[in-house]
Amino acid sequence: MSIITRDASNMSQPSSAASSPSASPATRTAITVARGDGIGPEIMQAALRVLDACGADLDYEFVEIGEKVYAKGVSAGIEEATWKSLRRTGVFLKAPITTPQGGGFKSLNVTIRKTLGLYANVRPCVAYHPFVQSRFPAMDVVIVRENEEDTYAGIEHRQTNEVVQCLKLISRPGCEKIVRHAFEYARASGRKKVTCFTKDNIMKATDGLFRQVFNEIAVEYPEIENDHWIIDIGAAKLADSPEEFDVIVTLNLYGDIISDIAAQITGSVGLGGSANIGERCAMFEAIHGSAPMIAGQGVANPSGLLLAAVQMLLHVGKPAPATKLHNAWLRTLEDGVHTADIYDSQHSHEKVGTQAFAEAVIARVGQQPQKLQAVSYEAASAAGANSASAKKPATPAAKPVKLLVGVDVFLDWDQPGRNADELAKQLAAAADNTGLKLKMITNRGVKVWPGGFPETFCTDHWRCRFISAGEAGGTVSHGAILALLTKVASAGLDFIKTEHLCTFDGKLGYSLGQGE
Ligand code: NAD
Repeated sequence: MSIITRDASNMSQPSSAASSPSASPATRTAITVARGDGIGPEIMQAALRVLDACGADLDYEFVEIGEKVYAKGVSAGIEEATWKSLRRTGVFLKAPITTPQGGGFKSLNVTIRKTLGLYANVRPCVAYHPFVQSRFPAMDVVIVRENEEDTYAGIEHRQTNEVVQCLKLISRPGCEKIVRHAFEYARASGRKKVTCFTKDNIMKATDGLFRQVFNEIAVEYPEIENDHWIIDIGAAKLADSPEEFDVIVTLNLYGDIISDIAAQITGSVGLGGSANIGERCAMFEAIHGSAPMIAGQGVANPSGLLLAAVQMLLHVGKPAPATKLHNAWLRTLEDGVHTADIYDSQHSHEKVGTQAFAEAVIARVGQQPQKLQAVSYEAASAAGANSASAKKPATPAAKPVKLLVGVDVFLDWDQPGRNADELAKQLAAAADNTGLKLKMITNRGVKVWPGGFPETFCTDHWRCRFISAGEAGGTVSHGAILALLTKVASAGLDFIKTEHLCTFDGKLGYSLGQGE
């Protein structure tokens, strides 16, 4: 049994009830807590002590995840009892875990995010200049990353000797949830602008949908400025002048990359916390890993987990302790009480270990920072940011008229010379009397028939586009496609997958080949 209640815990902090004797049962909130691996147990102990001192009124259900669970042969690193606890409390405060090296093990974070539907990853990236050195003293950006879709669906196939593929899946409801979350977050936290990053100039269907949904939802928030950047130049701009951004919303892969860039340029990745928000559950953690090299030495900085705990308190509707914790932490930072990772002789006064840092924060509960900007969550209902997007129903889309107008047949074909004209001859013959005709062959998206260039490099992976043999734009049937595939196979051609070509209310639901 991996769930340990607070009473059975070997942690030496006082219970929350003891630290806030006036707490009524109605204000107490149960959360699931994982101490994690490496420095995890040390920073979690520090974080829980501070939470208790701030009157967070939390009841902890301790669970075990990570190394010890992997070692039992559980490839996902998480057990049934933990899932039960997570689904019961709906709130997970998680210390970092060590991901085992070698194959066979699944990423625990990805498993938790996807299983519990934690669609929004929210990562504030703030510079604490001059107390932590940063080239961007005024930086204060929140990255809102879509967490479930994109290439992270993990649907990959090797299709030929030479070619593998990864499916990038983007859904309208997925885009709506994350974009709305970004705007709700901005509104609830008094932010002025939401910027969308996509690569819709290249991926017109997938990234194009994300941007289209962004544009649709942005008009519902007239008080919040909005703009869009192509991800490549946007990322460059973010790395060069992060002060110009406020909230950034983007797809999973881009968000993964830019959230690390943004955290790094604040001056210390060790200070970042993040929230993973779903409709029923949410997970809060530091953005750093388990730092095994310094584990057990009592020197780790618990700040990332503390700031994640602030996000958690807001999520569960406890703005008062969130404000206390955040301000006490800011005050500790500006008083120069620093752990080794951010200690410098110019701005630090005292180098402390993990628990001493927690004690310094606890000693400042109730105080405000004097130089850094104090926070006040009581007024702004930031909790609303975490729940509003989930509550608002997705826009009901009128179902468009869908017509099947052709098929892309993908072939594994490796004849000597890889001559597309030769392949076209065989395919045209196979299509005879099926109601379909060959329109185009591409190799890695570039048209190689009709009229290909000898310069185009060809792999053994061919996309062969068939459309109606009748009138232009005419529909085709599933039966015709099956007949075509049967004849393609009979001709000794190895088809490896098909993609239907459809129109939706007359608009193409597929991209054209380069040169088509
Ligand atoms: P890491 O973040 O653990 O460490 C990178 C560097 O930062 C190290 O020098 C480390 O000592 C330092 N550092 C990190 N956190 C610190 C803290 N709180 N205080 C002081 N110094 C700190 O990254 P890594 O070394 O690449 O990964 C170590 C392990 O953590 C790996 O197994 C990795 O898979 C795992 N990991 C887990 C999570 C998670 O659970 N969310 C996230 C990232 C990495």
